Amino acid sequence: MTTINPDTVRSVVAAVVREVASRERASTPSGDGIFADMDSAVVAADAAWRRYLDCSMKDRARFVRVIREVALAPEHLEYMARAAVEETGMGNVADKIAKNRAAAELTPGTEDLVTEAWSGDDGLTTIEISPYGVIGAITPTTNPTETIINNAIGMLAAGNAVVFSPHPRATRVSHWLIRTLNAALVAAGAPANLIVTVAEPSLENTNAMMAHKLVRLLVATGGPGLVKSVLSSGKKAIGAGAGNPPALVDATANIEKAARDIVDGASFDNNLPCTAEKEVLAVSSIADLLKFEMVKNGAYELRDPAQIERLADLVVDGRHAVTSWVGKDASVILQAIGVEAPAGTRLIIAEVPFDHPFVRVELMMPVLPIVRVKDLEEGMDLAVIAEHGNRHTAIMHSSDVNALTRMAKRIQTTIFVKNGPSYAGIGIGGEGYCTFTIAGPTGEGLTSARSFARRRRCVLVGGLNVR
Ligand code: NAD
Repeated sequence: MTTINPDTVRSVVAAVVREVASRERASTPSGDGIFADMDSAVVAADAAWRRYLDCSMKDRARFVRVIREVALAPEHLEYMARAAVEETGMGNVADKIAKNRAAAELTPGTEDLVTEAWSGDDGLTTIEISPYGVIGAITPTTNPTETIINNAIGMLAAGNAVVFSPHPRATRVSHWLIRTLNAALVAAGAPANLIVTVAEPSLENTNAMMAHKLVRLLVATGGPGLVKSVLSSGKKAIGAGAGNPPALVDATANIEKAARDIVDGASFDNNLPCTAEKEVLAVSSIADLLKFEMVKNGAYELRDPAQIERLADLVVDGRHAVTSWVGKDASVILQAIGVEAPAGTRLIIAEVPFDHPFVRVELMMPVLPIVRVKDLEEGMDLAVIAEHGNRHTAIMHSSDVNALTRMAKRIQTTIFVKNGPSYAGIGIGGEGYCTFTIAGPTGEGLTSARSFARRRRCVLVGGLNVR
């Protein structure tokens, strides 16, 4: 007779107990969406998604409304903005309120899912926009709650459940939002755990999420390392990566307005948005006027080359921005190099040569280099180089329609803002819907519900056509 090793029995029993406990937790209807480990979170989201399949489109639309209402409650808008600034040490409260509001109000819901149909002698065929199931969404520290609101609306509208992997430095505020959304959704009759995460977000947990067999689609909003990682996962992935948006100003632009727009865009949430102006290319004949007008609108110009280099030593480390300075107030950054900023300073500008690290590195802080170019052609050439081929965002101020068209064709960015602040490109003061996941590398562009869905064909042969 063969004997069984007691250690093997113990480990098998322990594994079964863990599995049962995890499935019980997963099916707990009062779940708040926060799980001890990634497997439990994914299993719970999958169970929620299976129940969600029985909900109607009207139900989905109602749940999307619930997410909007939760996010837009004035006390929640205020809390999320304050908590995110406090926890991440980045950005400013007023602009984070505007960003969260835009995500809640302007992210498309179920109306984004349009059915295509063919009818004729052979019957009726439809292409319907159908869910993936469980989506794994990785969110950045720069827009922590904005991305959760935006992704949750689009992903649930398309019929999915979502497991979030928030940035570890934005855990508390992300947890608060996921808990609050779950509670409101359950109160409105949605399955529990449509939106989940883990108690301790980490790289290991993100990797476990990416590898989990029940996760059918990965959506990555963050820097180049993250996008590379999801694209190497072997799964369908949407990659929304880094930008370094140039703003080109030519001699035909309305310079007063261009200056105001650039200061507004580049100082928005202390330059955290991936879409924000990161360098200016100004045609020589208008460069001085542009800087003069920018200073009138709250920019502080650093002129002393020694001060500019001190600032570069402080905030740039090789090819990266120094994290502790990302998203800080302009006055705090100036203070660190011994400059007392005048009241109302919201942006630091400095004229530098094109090969300066301020131009090359995605700083994500209110420090904006200005490069003088001899003419429009040189400006376009350098803007394309500065954008690093990210195909993310570019801004141009000009009243020359041909020049605007030529620049758009050459730079090939997902967003091209003409004669406005960069944030007009995500629906804040510009026409069009809002997103906080701009998928340049994988081509979905400004993502919305239909980006998080599969196209499925249903064919009915020989009937239901009335032509
Ligand atoms: P980040 O890349 O450091 O982190 C983003 C998320 O990815 C976090 O949750 C982090 O924990 C995770 N992560 C990072 N490296 C990873 C890896 N190798 N494998 C798995 N997970 C990983 O970025 P951040 O500082 O939080 O955000 C700023 C960056 O994100 C900027 O480059 C900005 O341009 C970009 N961004 C892009 C968009 C867009 O829509 N394209 C939106 C917001 C931010």
